[in-house]
Amino acid sequence: MTIRTTVFGENVHEQTSQVVRDLYPNGMHSTIADALNVDPSIEASWVTLQMPEHGLTVEKLAATDVLVWWGHAAHGEVKDEIVERVAKRVWEGMGLLVLHSGHFSKIFKRLMGTPCALKWREAGERERLWVINRNHPIAAGLPEKIELDMEEMYGEPFSVPEPDETVFISWFQGGEVFRSGLCYKRGAGKIFYFRPGHEAYPTYHDENVLTVLRNAVKWAYNPGPAWTAVTDAPNVPVDKALEPIKERGLTIHAKGAPGLR
Ligand code: ZN
Repeated sequence: MTIRTTVFGENVHEQTSQVVRDLYPNGMHSTIADALNVDPSIEASWVTLQMPEHGLTVEKLAATDVLVWWGHAAHGEVKDEIVERVAKRVWEGMGLLVLHSGHFSKIFKRLMGTPCALKWREAGERERLWVINRNHPIAAGLPEKIELDMEEMYGEPFSVPEPDETVFISWFQGGEVFRSGLCYKRGAGKIFYFRPGHEAYPTYHDENVLTVLRNAVKWAYNPGPAWTAVTDAPNVPVDKALEPIKERGLTIHAKGAPGLR
């Protein structure tokens, strides 16, 4: 089994900030992809916002089992057409990991259907991520808590739908708390939101954080065939019903008419 994984990196701060460049000389996307490739079951590559179609062509997405998304400063520059293309792949069964400031990405908001807003503060605070779901596959091999010496604070309330499962809750030095590891399913696709990863700190060099990313890719992987008919709405005529039935009452739709959208 090989999980074909694509890391989308916005690649903006790496160009504009020396601090970020020093931490991630080849870009955050490249650091994340390299860390995923440590696992023999993962085959990770990366694409960036600046590439044609942001690197997320129909062919690339068709060959992607799990997509990882890091964006922040340029969410608005992601083309709506590409967002719809990614959403459809998630409904078909592609896994999606949304990292840190990706909470405001078009694709996450599209799939959540809520504002995905939160409180924040950039003050280099200590963050403690408590593993509150000890046997969850995303927590495999982790201690009972992950400590990050410096992180950006994200605070509740986080306006997302109630998740199917919560794996981590964060505490910050200033007193706020945050649901930091959230599992969702949309269509046939599994989605994991993971909070840490502010670009000014070395979060993606932390071994526990990288373990979470590798675990999450494996959790989000759907080995089944893509549910490519996920957006179809076929009519089943009376004479094709599995059991014989007689048509009764009013009929609004013309025979053979397409479903209304
Ligand atoms: Zn940030």
